[in-house]
Amino acid sequence: MEKGISLAIHAGAGAVPADRLKGSSRRAYEEALSASLKIGQAILLDGGTSVEAVTQAVVELENREDFNAGRGAALCADGTAELDACVVNGTNRTAGAVAGLVETRNPILAAQALMGTPHWFLHGPAGDQFARATSLESADQTYFVTQDRQRQLASYSGSTASGMDHGPGLTAEAEAPGGTVGAVARDANGGLAAATSTGGMVNQPPGRIGDTPLLGAGSWADDNFCAISATGTGEAFMRAGFAHRVADLIELADYDCESAAQRALDEVAALDGMGGCIVVDHRGQLALPFNSKQMFRGWVTSSEPPYIAILPGEKIPI
Ligand code: ASP
Repeated sequence: MEKGISLAIHAGAGAVPADRLKGSSRRAYEEALSASLKIGQAILLDGGTSVEAVTQAVVELENREDFNAGRGAALCADGTAELDACVVNGTNRTAGAVAGLVETRNPILAAQALMGTPHWFLHGPAGDQFARATSLESADQTYFVTQDRQRQLASYSGSTASGMDHGPGLTAEAEAPGGTVGAVARDANGGLAAATSTGGMVNQPPGRIGDTPLLGAGSWADDNFCAISATGTGEAFMRAGFAHRVADLIELADYDCESAAQRALDEVAALDGMGGCIVVDHRGQLALPFNSKQMFRGWVTSSEPPYIAILPGEKIPI
């Protein structure tokens, strides 16, 4: 068994306006990605589990209002932030998931707390109530809903369309800072895990649930093959059975993780979906493909120092 650790994070695929990728605003993105990556890396180097590393890397991004998870989540058509999250443990194939939370500060912690319980996927008030009963911190909607997101939602006024929170073709007002967040990791014992957290799509109907909390669609992990966290137009990722599709291509068709992820993404594109994913395989190989203009991302392995990137082909040492 190779002992190396690997970690990748993402903070959404999409298209942020060019002026947000300059100066202090770019530095803020880079700082957030670096902070999340370093938190996960420190846990793995300290002998922590992949589940702990991906969960804490995601908590860091949920707490930052630039991304579509926790504080700063994309808003439903009625102005509410509804939060979905999932954590998957590839070692024992347990998972925890929540959808439609409105008052749990860190939805990913509620998902983690549900892992291994008999009914591990809760939605709406039951999810928030579970989080409270587990002594997780609550927050009211004024914490989650930011001015940026209210401005973005206002630009959809009169429209029933929902959009990727920073997808292409949006007007300047409809653009928002960053996307859904996620992490995948391999720990020193070969344990794989994935975590993903989102506010969904902007102007989505209240009650809509996307791919993020759905096992095999937006999130998946199995120590024998790979762990995956996806971001993009959820309906297409669900129709493609995306995350499980990547694992199947590795298991049954002998694809490496890069080509498996790319082929599954092509299938999403054929269903009019756009986005990206991060994958770690059982040997610790990483893939971070996307078919959007950008994807906020970062990665580190035992054989490579930590890097972050936003645009295609970027590789910024931190
Ligand atoms: N996949 C998320 C959803 O459909 C959105 C995103 O990743 O931006 O809810």
